[in-house]
Amino acid sequence: MTAPIFDQIAVIGIGLIGSSIALAARESGAARKVSLFDRDADVRKRAKKLRLGEVCDTAEAACDGADCVILCVPVGAIGETTKQLAPALKAGAILTDVGSVKESVLGEMQAHCPDKVFLIPGHPIAGTEKSGPEAGFPSLFREAWHILTPLPQREEDYNSAVDRLAGFWEMLGAKVEIMDAGRHDRVLAITSHLPHLIAFNIVSTAYDMESVGEGEVVKYSAGGFRDFTRIAASDPTMWRDVFLNNRAAVLETLGRFTEDLAALQRAIRWGDGDMLMKEFERARGIRKAILDAGQDTSETNFGRNTKDKN
Ligand code: NAP
Repeated sequence: MTAPIFDQIAVIGIGLIGSSIALAARESGAARKVSLFDRDADVRKRAKKLRLGEVCDTAEAACDGADCVILCVPVGAIGETTKQLAPALKAGAILTDVGSVKESVLGEMQAHCPDKVFLIPGHPIAGTEKSGPEAGFPSLFREAWHILTPLPQREEDYNSAVDRLAGFWEMLGAKVEIMDAGRHDRVLAITSHLPHLIAFNIVSTAYDMESVGEGEVVKYSAGGFRDFTRIAASDPTMWRDVFLNNRAAVLETLGRFTEDLAALQRAIRWGDGDMLMKEFERARGIRKAILDAGQDTSETNFGRNTKDKN
């Protein structure tokens, strides 16, 4: 069996991602010990029952002796959490996070992270629409990308800390990619943030439409709508923070999207079937590329995470 990468990791925020990390670290043997903290006493109680690791009553106690501290709280809470934890971090420890936005998070973490600690932000491109400690499962990160956005131009010991953290995520089954924080935010704006915004919007439009009763929306949802409802069921706090913290990239992407949507609207109005065919065939090609890259399966239950056992 491979030796653990870390003697002790601390997971702060015991939701879907935090509990999945705890379970995966234990199952893979990537960490000898997992200590956890969540600000919600009820979540801590449930995490104890789920045997996710040593659940502590304070964040400082969870970080005591940890070689790697992983912040799994909403993006809007990462800066404040770093500030609170800074005095409790041991010299030479790695501080990382899993936030879905990187540039603003990096700035906030950097402002509070002590010099003796290696700050290496990260983001697992894996998740479900579920929240809370019960939603976690150890295979969540398997075959998924994990993006690390290290600080540029650092010394040798910083680079070896990046290698250790990459090795940890690889033991959890992830494929690690190194990226600049700004680039991460632009890529995720189109691949994740905009699709979620569209899903939230289409679900509320359908809900508000007076010509279609709510019963009919639910009854005929298999026509495509239900896949949007799955995405739109994602945690509201998490997504509020994502949009507030990736404002520029999301607005830029949204501008392009609304222009393209207006072009489709015009083609429908003027009966331009050739234009519609051209666009739909191009979209079909992109779907094929995603399947060829192994990023989804061609099963007819597209949109449902078959790895998700909850
Ligand atoms: P979640 O299931 O809602 O869990 C977050 C947990 O953190 C909640 O128990 C929350 O408690 C707790 N928390 C909030 N502020 C805290 C604080 N200051 N100190 C300690 N605990 C605190 O969320 P999640 O889906 O695991 O997401 C966590 C992070 O992962 C977010 O930054 C998100 O952007 C990122 N992420 C999520 C996904 C996904 O698909 N869900 C994928 C990749 C990355 P309360 O309920 O009391 O607020």
